[in-house]
Amino acid sequence: MQSAAIMNTYGERKLTFVRGEGVYLWDDEGRRYLDALSGIAVCGLGHSHPSITEAISEQAACLVHTSNLYNTEPQQKLAEYLCDLTDMDNVFFSNSGAEANEAAIKIARKYGNDKGIKNPTIITMNGSFHGRTMATLTATGNPKVKVGFAPLLDGFSHVDYDDIESVKKSITPNTVAIMVEPIQGEGGVNIPHEHYLTELRSICDEHDLLLMLDEIQTGNSRTGKPFAFQHCNIKPDVLTTAKGLGNGFPIGACLAQGKASQVLQPGNHGSTYGGNPLGCHVALRVLKELKESNCAENAVTMGDYLIRNFATELAGSSLIANIRNKGLMVAIELTQDCPELVGEAAACGLLINVTAGNVIRLLPPLIISAEHADEIVKVLSQLILSLENKG
Ligand code: PLP
Repeated sequence: MQSAAIMNTYGERKLTFVRGEGVYLWDDEGRRYLDALSGIAVCGLGHSHPSITEAISEQAACLVHTSNLYNTEPQQKLAEYLCDLTDMDNVFFSNSGAEANEAAIKIARKYGNDKGIKNPTIITMNGSFHGRTMATLTATGNPKVKVGFAPLLDGFSHVDYDDIESVKKSITPNTVAIMVEPIQGEGGVNIPHEHYLTELRSICDEHDLLLMLDEIQTGNSRTGKPFAFQHCNIKPDVLTTAKGLGNGFPIGACLAQGKASQVLQPGNHGSTYGGNPLGCHVALRVLKELKESNCAENAVTMGDYLIRNFATELAGSSLIANIRNKGLMVAIELTQDCPELVGEAAACGLLINVTAGNVIRLLPPLIISAEHADEIVKVLSQLILSLENKG
């Protein structure tokens, strides 16, 4: 039962979880669920990973928090590891994805102001999701989440995703940056054409704009590389990540390189908790475990295995509009809305998500095996086929 003492921002929540291990969660009645959502792309290493539990306890026993007025070794080590991994120059640590994007937005605005642009504008995409703070909500390209929150911020213009011409047309002398997800997650697992990021990079170079990639969902090995931009031969000016970075421990990061890395100066930005020793020690262990466990490679193998088997099981189903993936960001797009599948799958012991109304989104832990994938395909295919039979 949901307590009335919790502000009702998430609607009715039927399940109460008490324990997790690997790819499974257990509810308060002892039922087991295969978690094909990982807390929305968070627990890439699965639940209660022994090495992450150890990292939390050893740092908790040593030093949990000190102010950003002081250095700590975990923060320095994580910053250096992340910069090596991404070839970026420096990092600002936050506690969440939205806050990482807030830092990116502040970098873009100050970059513009420093150049004498008084009303800097950031181009973002229709269908995007960047968070729930006022600036990231304004950046988000989904009108529904903005209703009731006027006045929104100035300085954002939205164009169609995966449409280079509309980006070019919307550039004005006030444009300072393009903020974009390499793959839109909440918007429906929308995978752009192969050269999209490379073309955006060229546009940014030509017009002196910052290319700011929101890898809060696509980062941390989810798509088969440490970060999705590493599938192409480009580098962003600003890179944000969170979610999988802490495997459930709240931490976010805004990385910058080149001209973007020198924009924020002492006094321009800050956070009490951002980059605290506990969060940083855990995130460093997460990144090392993702590498040592070959999670990026497994994401490619298992993602391809999942969509091959879904294609076989669902061949001939008139409900299927498209099945697609990049690593373990997997989508089964139906020809009709299917919110009921979430509850039906849970009743069968499988946790999934439906986004954009008709897109079944799977974001399982990056450690899943073929047996787990078989279970996901079996349960979900049966539910989709019975939805079709219901007409
Ligand atoms: N950006 C993207 C691409 C996301 O998917 C999300 C969360 O779903 C966010 C930003 C916001 O992250 P958080 O919920 O940690 O603030």
